[in-house]
Amino acid sequence: MPCRLTFADDNGLVRASAKRNIQEKVTPMGNAYEIYALRYATMSPRTPHLNFLVPDPHETTAQDLDYFVWLIRGGGRDILVDTGFNAEEAKARSRKLTLNPVDALANFGVAADTIKNVIVTHLHYDHAGNLDRFPNARFHLQDREMSYATGRCMCNGMLRHPFSVEHVTTMVRHVYGERVTFHSGDGEIAPGVSVHRVGGHSDGLQVVRVETARGPVVLASDAAHYYANLQKRSPFPIVYNVGDMAQGWEIVERLAGHPDRFIPGHDPIVSEIYPRASDKVDAFALHLQPSRSFVK
Ligand SMILES: [Zn+2]
Ligand SMILES: [Zn+2]
Repeated sequence: MPCRLTFADDNGLVRASAKRNIQEKVTPMGNAYEIYALRYATMSPRTPHLNFLVPDPHETTAQDLDYFVWLIRGGGRDILVDTGFNAEEAKARSRKLTLNPVDALANFGVAADTIKNVIVTHLHYDHAGNLDRFPNARFHLQDREMSYATGRCMCNGMLRHPFSVEHVTTMVRHVYGERVTFHSGDGEIAPGVSVHRVGGHSDGLQVVRVETARGPVVLASDAAHYYANLQKRSPFPIVYNVGDMAQGWEIVERLAGHPDRFIPGHDPIVSEIYPRASDKVDAFALHLQPSRSFVK
C-alpha cells in the first residue's frame, strides 16, 4: 500500500483558506485528485545567470534547482507526469541523483508496472528518461514536441543540449509500438485531468491541469522553473521561443485561476510549503493548501 498521509480535514483547509480572506471561491469539483511531487535530485549551487535569461543585476545568489516527477491519484487511477533521469544520464551531465524516480515511486508504494498513463510534459533529459521502465504505460505527448525533438532544430547544439538522443529514440520506439497518444494543443487524459500545450521552453511543452479538492492545480513543468520566472515574467535561460513562453505564463495563470494553484517545475520552495507525504521519499502533497500564500 502506498504510504500516504490521511488528511481528515480537507474541507477544513478549504474553510481555513476562505477565513484567510483569499479571494477564491472553491467550488467542490466532481473529480478530486491527489497530487504528489516526488523529488529525485537537486542541483546546487547555482548562479543567477543559470536561473534567469536576464537576471536582476542586484541579485548575487541563486536558488537551487530541484528535480521532480509528479503522481496524480484518484478514481482508481495513478497517472505519472514525467519520468526523470537515471544514474547513467546523471553521470553524463554531472548531476547528483538522489535516487532514480522509478525507485522513488516504488518507495512511495507505486510499482512502475502498474502505471497505465504517463504524461510527458516535454522530452528534455530530466523529464523523459526511464521511458523503458514502464512496460504497461501509454505515453501522452504533444505532436509538436516529437517533431521538435526529431527535426531540424536538433542540428543545433544549444537547442539539442537538454535532450538525450537515447530518450528520444526510446520514445520513437514507443511510437512504433503504438504506445503513444499524441495531443495537439488541449487534451483530456481522464475526467478532470487535462494537458495544454504552451511551448516556449521547448516547442511542444505541455502543462497539466488537475482537479483537486482545493480547485484546479496546474503542474507547470518547465513553463516556469521557479515561482519567480512566472511572477516576475522573467524567462529561464533555456528557451526556444520567448514569445510563446510569455504567453505560456498567461495560460498557466488562467488554467490555475489562483496564484497558489500553479506548481513550478523545479523550485525548492515547493518542498518548503507543501506538506510532506512520506517518511521514505521526498514526497509533497500538492492537493493540500500550501503553508505560504502568494496572494498579495
Ligand atoms: Zn525542460
Ligand atoms: Zn526541467
